[in-house]
Amino acid sequence: AKKAVLGPLVGAVDQGTSSTRFLVFNSKTAELLSHHQVEIKQEFPREGWVEQDPKEILHSVYECIEKTCEKLGQLNIDISNIKAIGVSNQRETTVVWDKLTGEPLYNAVVWLDLRTQSTVESLSKRIPGNNNFVKSKTGLPLSTYFSAVKLRWLLDNVRKVQKAVEEDRALFGTVDSWLIWSLTGGASGGVHCTDVTNASRTMLFNIHSLEWDKELCEFFEIPMKILPNVRSSSEIYGLMKAGALEGVPISGCLGDQSAALVGQMCFHDGQAKNTYGTGCFLLCNTGRKCVFSEHGLLTTVAYKLGRDKPVYYALEGSVAIAGAVIRWLRDNLGIIKTSEEIEKLAKEVGTSYGCYFVPAFSGLYAPYWEPSARGIICGLTQFTNKCHIAFAALEAVCFQTREILDAMNRDCGIPLSHLQVDGGMTNNKILMQLQADILYIPVVKPSMPETTALGAAMAAGAAEGVGVWSLEPEDLSAVTMERFEPQINAEESEIRYSTWKKAVMKSMGWVT
Ligand code: ADP
Repeated sequence: AKKAVLGPLVGAVDQGTSSTRFLVFNSKTAELLSHHQVEIKQEFPREGWVEQDPKEILHSVYECIEKTCEKLGQLNIDISNIKAIGVSNQRETTVVWDKLTGEPLYNAVVWLDLRTQSTVESLSKRIPGNNNFVKSKTGLPLSTYFSAVKLRWLLDNVRKVQKAVEEDRALFGTVDSWLIWSLTGGASGGVHCTDVTNASRTMLFNIHSLEWDKELCEFFEIPMKILPNVRSSSEIYGLMKAGALEGVPISGCLGDQSAALVGQMCFHDGQAKNTYGTGCFLLCNTGRKCVFSEHGLLTTVAYKLGRDKPVYYALEGSVAIAGAVIRWLRDNLGIIKTSEEIEKLAKEVGTSYGCYFVPAFSGLYAPYWEPSARGIICGLTQFTNKCHIAFAALEAVCFQTREILDAMNRDCGIPLSHLQVDGGMTNNKILMQLQADILYIPVVKPSMPETTALGAAMAAGAAEGVGVWSLEPEDLSAVTMERFEPQINAEESEIRYSTWKKAVMKSMGWVT
């Protein structure tokens, strides 16, 4: 076993849509020492519905913590060196639970879920004043994606939720709030809070005043008493109440995309990262300015790293389906057994042979915000086989990113010179090369790809009262990068991209 000289350690919970992870970093070197990962079930009870079990999510966090601590023990690393824990989480996913029993009152309604389409339609007919009412306060378009409409649906349709609200027993939260409340004691003293980044995805939060917005709560008819306290992304919220890390402060909280921005050290105006997980999210730091997009991007809170620290904002391009299309090919079509196998299939052909796959399973998000779109595979011939479809699925992820990047470049005025990437899909080398070819700029990937967890650990370690992590490291030379340079010519890349756009047009208007 290695006997490394250790600085203080910091743990991070990374609760994503596909899986939960717990990771432990050395705060002095940012080195990842150990981790454990558990896949999370997704339930699809009806077409367009996506749910997860909040209890399973919570248990997976405990399991990952316990297993990681065991692995540290095998490395002769004393877990009492862990000085803080950060939480990063899938955003928007909505949980309501009973504060007296600690029991969820319904499954978590996952961000991808489409059940609120009619809720959104009826709300959009009665937006007060001008159409900008929601967007100007929240930076978000009225869409099924965000928590407020999911919560509205739960209040309208789930008797247990209605009753708990009437009896003053209901608490609402995104996954961060559910976890922090449960981990800090749950029904016996759990802390009901969220951070500004997660709050900014609920559509109830005013991103200028950094408070819950009374007018928005009235518009969505959400009782403010069930909302969590909004805190900065880096401060001590409470202590772990049970398990191997009992007593350790939870002192960082960031929505996963914000956490990745921090973990990629995008602290300056104009710095951007793209994360390829279940969906794909390109965020560009716009500094202390709230920039509103003219091209279908969201304005969101990037981070606020301390109670007295300034808030930073970001422009965001959100793509609903990226890794999820690979999971679909695995679970629904069965043409691969593991996500990694997609690379082998794609490599066999090295082209989609004119096949295009628009995975608009949940409508299209940025830059279209088109709920009527549904997935299509087109350009098929007698010659097309599963390898071409696999290739087209990877290409779809790259084309969707290209659309976001184009929008971002138009909004920002200064085109990005390279793209910093991370997330589960970036292990796929074919995808990374394709992305460089389709964007026609280099794609740069840190050798330690767990940037979401790293960002949460940094926020936790830097918190007042913890103080073991410096957010302005003098030496970043230890961070090594893998680069993918464009290899095809720009003209070829443009032709493929314009055919993709034709396919996107065909995917729209399927549901009316
Ligand atoms: P999330 O944070 O949304 O849970 P991750 O960053 O963990 O997602 O990435 C998981 C996603 O990436 C899954 O949808 C999976 O299908 C996809 N994925 C994982 N490995 C590969 C690979 N080698 N090639 C393509 N897709 C992959």
